Amino acid sequence: MTDAAVFSPAQRVRAIHVSEILRITDHAQALKRAGRPVIVLGAGEPDFDTPGNIRHAASQAITRGDTRYTVLDGSPAMKAAVQLKFKRDNALDFALDEISVSAGAKQVIFNALMASLDPGDEVILPAPYWTSYADIVQICGGVPVSVACGEENGFRLTAAQLQAAITPRTRWLFLNSPSNPSGAAYSAAQLKPITDVLLDHPGVWVLADDIYEHILYDGLAFATPVAVEPRLRDRTLTVNGVSKAYAMTGWRVGYGAGPRALIAAMAVVQSQSTSCPSSVSQAAAIEALTGPQGIVAERCASFQQRRDFVVAALNRTPGLHCRVPEGAFYTFASCAGVLGKRTAAGALLQTDSDFCRYLLQDFDVAVVPGSVFGLAPYFRISYATSMAQLEEACARISAACAALT
Ligand code: PMP
Repeated sequence: MTDAAVFSPAQRVRAIHVSEILRITDHAQALKRAGRPVIVLGAGEPDFDTPGNIRHAASQAITRGDTRYTVLDGSPAMKAAVQLKFKRDNALDFALDEISVSAGAKQVIFNALMASLDPGDEVILPAPYWTSYADIVQICGGVPVSVACGEENGFRLTAAQLQAAITPRTRWLFLNSPSNPSGAAYSAAQLKPITDVLLDHPGVWVLADDIYEHILYDGLAFATPVAVEPRLRDRTLTVNGVSKAYAMTGWRVGYGAGPRALIAAMAVVQSQSTSCPSSVSQAAAIEALTGPQGIVAERCASFQQRRDFVVAALNRTPGLHCRVPEGAFYTFASCAGVLGKRTAAGALLQTDSDFCRYLLQDFDVAVVPGSVFGLAPYFRISYATSMAQLEEACARISAACAALT
């Protein structure tokens, strides 16, 4: 091979990686294929099937011949469905040209940052945060600014922390409630001090990632920044999607609503990457958003049972400690109490990554270290799997901790 044939990645991708969560999940799946009884609590994906009425709507779209390009950033019918959703669920009014539809909420976020960040622009990420945020910021030339939000404030950002993190280069604040990975959610009263700080900084935009809106427990009311502080409307992008609420991860449909100029710039980015989202998936998403909604609450109740089980099991395990998450389908437990101990094979556990590696190698349970999400020493369990699997996984985690000396 000549030197010219050696691939060297572009500067903009050198700092980023394939999502660590996907890497751990792939590794665990490979062990499973090799015959190991691995339980994978890695990926953030509901174990339920897409509801029948939604799948039926997709088949009908195929039969009808809805198989061509749609309007670039969402068909008029899809945008109308999103409009209805925001009105019904959040009492927010958006015009159709204030709405953008993409291949997943991830692409909405990507488009927004690609359309808005200049080199060196800063994006405030309250940690722990979904790992992709930091990578997307970097790919778009920005600088992720991680702000550690400890358990003492329920993994939530405080007004004082936000105030201290804002600089003349700050372009966006990301808020994700309920959160991946902590499961923490903000009530309207908890959002208010944050939106108050933002009113004093008109150059800072807000990206509200509401993808776990419908997975919120104990009867808590969902709150989103622009509903709490309508004066932020001119600089808030509210992001949501059908992946989590309707178990539609593979269909790839997400959407955002915000100021027209931003939405138009996002459409330009999308026009030169993927064009419109899948026409068939949009037909399915219309049914998800406008059809019967009962299944959303039913599934949420089932997730709540699993949360209760996992949190109790973790808190019974010496060395571990888990705050009760308000929503999403993750627990984010501290493993501080097992660090400094040794495994039966003599290995010293120094970090949360060591602990997670030990769980996978010696006990066949795949979880993700908190350091991946910008806050250590923790580990994330995705409990979107059967109770039987969760019972077995928690028993193994307990045995793993008991075996440490
Ligand atoms: N935001 C958060 C916080 C997520 O956890 C995910 C999925 N893991 C997404 C956005 C992306 O969802 P999708 O692209 O499937 O709509």
